Amino acid sequence: MIIIMDQHASRENIDDVQKKLSELGFRTHPIFGEVKTVIGAIGDKRHLNTQEIYTLPGVENIVPIMKPYKLAGRELKQVPTVINVGDVQIGGNKVVVMAGPCAIENEKSYIDTAKKVKEAGAEILRGGAFKPRTSPYDFQGLEEDGLKIMAEARDITGLKLVTEVVDTRDVDLVASYADIIQIGARNMQNFRLLKEVGMHKKPVLLKRGLSAKIEEWLMAAEYIISEGNEDVILCERGIRTFETATRNTIDLSAIPVVKELSHLPIIVDPSHATGTWKYVSALSKGAIATGADGLIIEVHSDPNCALCDGPQSLRPSKFSQIMSELSHVANAVERTI
Ligand code: PEP
Ligand code: MN
Repeated sequence: MIIIMDQHASRENIDDVQKKLSELGFRTHPIFGEVKTVIGAIGDKRHLNTQEIYTLPGVENIVPIMKPYKLAGRELKQVPTVINVGDVQIGGNKVVVMAGPCAIENEKSYIDTAKKVKEAGAEILRGGAFKPRTSPYDFQGLEEDGLKIMAEARDITGLKLVTEVVDTRDVDLVASYADIIQIGARNMQNFRLLKEVGMHKKPVLLKRGLSAKIEEWLMAAEYIISEGNEDVILCERGIRTFETATRNTIDLSAIPVVKELSHLPIIVDPSHATGTWKYVSALSKGAIATGADGLIIEVHSDPNCALCDGPQSLRPSKFSQIMSELSHVANAVERTI
């Protein structure tokens, strides 16, 4: 439920309401608006006599939250969430581009690619050090050595880092290097992992599961937020359908739907969605036109030799060309890139 405080409610009134709710076993999430404060209260309503809350000073109204995703939904929070990753904002007017290879393979090629994507206008550098591969015989990532190379690339370029964690045992380690922790599609419903990253302060990039409905995806975000980490960025990366012409089927309709249902920012991964570098440009444009707050694109200095996802990786020169084209689309929808 949502406790709406009246516009003259003092900080003390707000604290008292929160105190009472926690005594009753509720978790509280205050949202301090420009005019009013609202307090989201999550817990078992059977323990509540709403009269006890209504009579507290400063309380204006109490309304139920109908959707199952209480904290990720628009009912509680109407203004869009803007996530600060250092000086980069995700969910604001500027479309944020994350780019880099699928995996960190070696220091030289990674640093080289990092410099090039930075030059082309990317603000966040991607790269997997723990790779969730379909085959156990495929390259699994350089693990901490890969994270060290990422940190070096950050020192050189100033780019922020996004990298995936696949195991609860590695969350502390990954969080100590990453600026954004990625939860991959295959782990979207790994609830222990979601809770673990929810207990950290670092923003989380939550990819949509291979066969996840939007509601399931938002419930996964709810797991993270309910542990206290509100900085969740959703990422549409294509879903499984009957179509096999592309690796996955990109669901661009998810963007306006998510925008309506949730306050969280949403970005698109056209690389994993299509599996083919040739389609990345068109789908990137489509994503921006449809309202995406950002893109995450795979770029590799030599895609033919990539240890992972070469066929969908752009060469740095192509990435740079696409970046300049994207600014026209961003401008057309009154955004910058
Ligand atoms: C990735 O970003 O490298 C990745 C494995 O993506 P996904 O989880 O969307 O398949
Ligand atoms: Mn990949």
